[in-house]
Amino acid sequence: MPPTTPPPEDPRRGIPRTDDLLADPRLRDASARLSAATVRAAVRGAQERARAGVLPPGDVLAAAVAALPPSSGSLRPVLNATGVVVHTNLGRAPLSTAAREAVARAAGYTDVEFDRRTGRRGPRGAAVVAALREHAPDAEDALVVNNGAAALLLAVTALAAGREVVVSRGELVQIGDGFRLPDLMASTGAVLREVGTTNRTTPEDYAAALGPRTGCIVKVHPGNFRIEGFTAAAGVAQLAHVARQAGSPAVPVVVDTGSGLLAPDPTLPHEPDATTALRDGADLVTASGDKLLGGPQAGLVLGRTAVVQQLRRHPLARALRVDKLALAALEATVRGPAPPVTASRGADPERLRQRAQVLADRTGGVVVPHEGTVGGGGAPGVALPGWAVALPEQLAAPLREGEPAVVGHVERGRLLLDLRCVPEDEDGLLADLVRAADRAAGV
Ligand SMILES: *Cc1c(COP(=O)(O)O)cnc(C)c1O
Repeated sequence: MPPTTPPPEDPRRGIPRTDDLLADPRLRDASARLSAATVRAAVRGAQERARAGVLPPGDVLAAAVAALPPSSGSLRPVLNATGVVVHTNLGRAPLSTAAREAVARAAGYTDVEFDRRTGRRGPRGAAVVAALREHAPDAEDALVVNNGAAALLLAVTALAAGREVVVSRGELVQIGDGFRLPDLMASTGAVLREVGTTNRTTPEDYAAALGPRTGCIVKVHPGNFRIEGFTAAAGVAQLAHVARQAGSPAVPVVVDTGSGLLAPDPTLPHEPDATTALRDGADLVTASGDKLLGGPQAGLVLGRTAVVQQLRRHPLARALRVDKLALAALEATVRGPAPPVTASRGADPERLRQRAQVLADRTGGVVVPHEGTVGGGGAPGVALPGWAVALPEQLAAPLREGEPAVVGHVERGRLLLDLRCVPEDEDGLLADLVRAADRAAGV
């Protein structure tokens, strides 16, 4: 059968050839910022639409140019005007200047696993472990993995796979979108041995469940809700006592604090921290790097040397390994000046009011009281008193789609912009963006 060539009058014959399109300066110059395959994909997409008859052949070049991504990376900076300090949808903790600089330094070849003194392989992550131990001296050893979930996964796998993990029914919680801690723990092959009830679990409940099949006790800090009323929970010290009574060697007690505080913080009296948990007798503490600690996504494991070593030597540890950029950022976060989340959390309400008034004066908004929150599944019920500028709701969409994007809090027909998490030196930029959005929306 002869090849099927379209009849001469078929408009698809006029579709420009790939090489001719790629020779156009606009597509040629795009290769300075985009890969050849990305440019070709834009070209191919436009040609296919012309072949399908939905695009005139004469428009193929313009359509290919329009389809090019503006840059190779699509993540855009956001001014977080929500008042939520650890905002999961906005990348949780913004990095400190020190952490950003450390990331930039580590981005190329770097001595992450190289000892410059001997010229040989060095221990990966040793500096971070030292930094964590400086700030939580009760930790004999530490390990950093990919995120908080990975830290718990590794702990339960190394200590209890094929055995039982004892956990309170009051702590079988869902953390984020579809992320349930009991499912995570069960995925390790450990059998969940649930004790107590939703509202009350006592040390005796744990003691009754311990036996030869116990791998570890896990205590989870359910950080995103509070239960009040007729409640009881066993503290870490009580669990450590129960674990020692159970026999020799003692059953390891793992405390998942979630939030990542290394030491007690007087402004968050109900938030658990690694130092207190370890002093109370926890063998391991796991936590996130990008919640209240204010660093990069990472999972911290702190605790007794032998138990941390057991995790470090487990084959899964390699699969959960943290990358050099996160290691660099984490070390600088811990050793550097207070990170943005700490500053935002502690922002002075009077200063927030003054800044809001300036923004309101420049944008025609109104200053209203507004409570910020810690967010990120931390410190439920802790309100951070502050202020916001109320603007017409129609500004929300153009501000979100601007560059940088501005995300506020839409409530009862108003857009509220809370300056708590906006760096003060960007207040002027924010006012300019609001005025531009105002013109665009024609409010
Ligand atoms: C947030 C959280 C996790 C998960 O940590 P990621 O860093 O998000 O993986 C696990 N446990 C608790 C108690 C948490 O609050």
